[in-house]
Amino acid sequence: MNVSFYPGPSQLYPEVEQYLTDAYRSGILSMNHRSPAFMDLLAQTVAALREKLALPPDYEVYFTSSATECWEIIAQSLLSRQSLHAFNGAFGQKWYEYTQRIRPDSVALPFGVDEPLDVASMSRGTQADVLCLTHNETSNATAIFPELLLAARRSFAGVIAVDATSSMAGVALPWEAADAWFASVQKCFGLPPGLGVLIVSPRAVEQAQRVADRRYYNSLLFVRENFLKNQTPYTPNTLAIYLLSRVMQQVPPIGQIDAQTRQRAKEWYAFLSDLSVDLLVQNEAVRSDTVVAFRGEASFIAELKTRALAEGIVLGNGYGEWKNASVRIANFPAITEKAIQRLRIFLKNNIPDLH
Ligand SMILES: *Cc1c(COP(=O)(O)O)cnc(C)c1O
Repeated sequence: MNVSFYPGPSQLYPEVEQYLTDAYRSGILSMNHRSPAFMDLLAQTVAALREKLALPPDYEVYFTSSATECWEIIAQSLLSRQSLHAFNGAFGQKWYEYTQRIRPDSVALPFGVDEPLDVASMSRGTQADVLCLTHNETSNATAIFPELLLAARRSFAGVIAVDATSSMAGVALPWEAADAWFASVQKCFGLPPGLGVLIVSPRAVEQAQRVADRRYYNSLLFVRENFLKNQTPYTPNTLAIYLLSRVMQQVPPIGQIDAQTRQRAKEWYAFLSDLSVDLLVQNEAVRSDTVVAFRGEASFIAELKTRALAEGIVLGNGYGEWKNASVRIANFPAITEKAIQRLRIFLKNNIPDLH
């Protein structure tokens, strides 16, 4: 079987195979989503996630269909005036564009791949009541380190929403620095696609109450009312919730996962530097711990990916403007040490020869 380093959908935790069978046999997949059995499953899943991710006790957890849905929920339900989107890559930009279709006044604040987030610029001259940040920009392998998120918190008075799709459950996040965090499970959760996780602070709930949006099936207040009763606003992806509950029971606390992810990232960057490939991100301070990327001539990248696939290794394509000129390597917790060693041997054997 291939081993995948694609940064989403990504390599599953190997245990998922057994969990799929268990889900089928448990009968839960045929149960009504208003039944006590489903409500128990939902409550257990949220409890396990809270514990393992070390969420503040007053933050609430809801499930959605995807991170993309969370972009729209935030635009509809948390924004009263306009949002300010600081981004340096394709996912942050998409979030801005999706929001603009709903809220045309929203403002973009683009910055460069090697620049840290400019916190000072965010407090000036804006009417924005929601600041939108991408914690881990999956397209170019950059991340906003925790101190900067905390600094953003101090300088921006409104609600802060953070897209942590490719970092949540892979590294520890400074929960108190933001009010709405979201992810989908096909990245660091090591699960198949089809479920989003939205985590909100009391401040976000208050903002939603002020905005009082109740126009949509996924209006935040309506979603919340359902989840407070351990229910969902629509028939949910019960299988995905079941798998998430099993994975959340299985994984160690986030502190442990975080230490492993950072250690592995350090090793990846050192390894790639030794091979003399050009890392996509030059500034070490803004490099992601969960997605590692290097760049090169399109022909070199294409040949490397083809050779890897022939050996059963799936490398991540570039994304957006980096589509053909970079390789992305997921550094997600579900990837085994053995798979990492296999990829390193492959790269060592092939990169010098192709250069
Ligand atoms: C993958 C990804 C998304 C989109 O996730 P969906 O599950 O397709 O909605 C959004 N933002 C970031 C940063 C991502 O990596």
